[in-house]
Amino acid sequence: NGRVELRDVRFRYPSGADVSLASLEEVATLDRTISEPVLRGVSFTAEPGQMVALVGPSGAGKSTLSMLIPRVYDVSDGQVLVGGVDVRDATLASLRDEIGVVTQDSHLFHESIRENLRYAKPEATDDELWTALAGAQIADLVRSLPDGLDTTVGERGYRFSGGEKQRIAIARLLLKAPSIVILDEATAHLDSESEAAVQRALSVALAGRTALVIAHRLSTVRDADQILVLDGGRIVERGRHDELVAVG
Ligand code: ADP
Ligand code: ADP
Repeated sequence: NGRVELRDVRFRYPSGADVSLASLEEVATLDRTISEPVLRGVSFTAEPGQMVALVGPSGAGKSTLSMLIPRVYDVSDGQVLVGGVDVRDATLASLRDEIGVVTQDSHLFHESIRENLRYAKPEATDDELWTALAGAQIADLVRSLPDGLDTTVGERGYRFSGGEKQRIAIARLLLKAPSIVILDEATAHLDSESEAAVQRALSVALAGRTALVIAHRLSTVRDADQILVLDGGRIVERGRHDELVAVG
């Protein structure tokens, strides 16, 4: 039903965690952090349809926390409940159906727009694809391209901007229609014009769903029902935007 609850969640990365993308300097840093807890007792509830924002300095544990919900990692201690069920008792397939993720680099794995969208819903008709693209405010652009839905996205295809790729990823989210959406700095790295377009698409995509939004700026999560400030793996402040801005 879209309810997400974390109960005293603690987490540390196991040694030998995936450091394959780290540079050599980063590996030196990671070696020290591997033994350090990344989350030190985090509790909150996102009621169905609520937007909960996570803000805080880089390294605070925001992305790690978000990955515990679709069970990319298992908690070291405590509990994560999705729809009242401990994620350890849910199947990964059901969690993937219930939770949609949009991150700062869109995962457009497939050649054409049609294939990228059908990944979310293999049986989708072209009408449904166009409706999703319209919801994500990218239908007009795709319609203007000679190959339409068959336009390729990769290196040799049409050069979509970062914001356009995000909107295609959002169209995929609309087709998937999950009850829970996780946005991990979905508008980071975009110029302000594309950011505004992606924000508009996101407001359509988030309507009626539970959302956990990781944001780099407090101003982008003004409408959140709860803002959690994470620092050093703990929630150090929580409140609505006006409450947090008031205390500075
Ligand atoms: P945030 O999203 O708030 O910037 P992260 O969740 O990315 O924070 O990182 C929290 C801590 O966990 C950091 O110290 C980071 O170095 C560490 N960390 C992140 N990913 C890994 C990993 N795969 N293996 C080991 N440590 C990691
Ligand atoms: P999840 O497995 O929880 O969906 P991922 O990080 O794997 O999370 O994927 C992020 C987004 O990319 C999701 O919206 C998912 O639907 C989509 N996605 C994942 N794998 C593929 C793929 N092979 N092709 C197209 N889209 C994908």
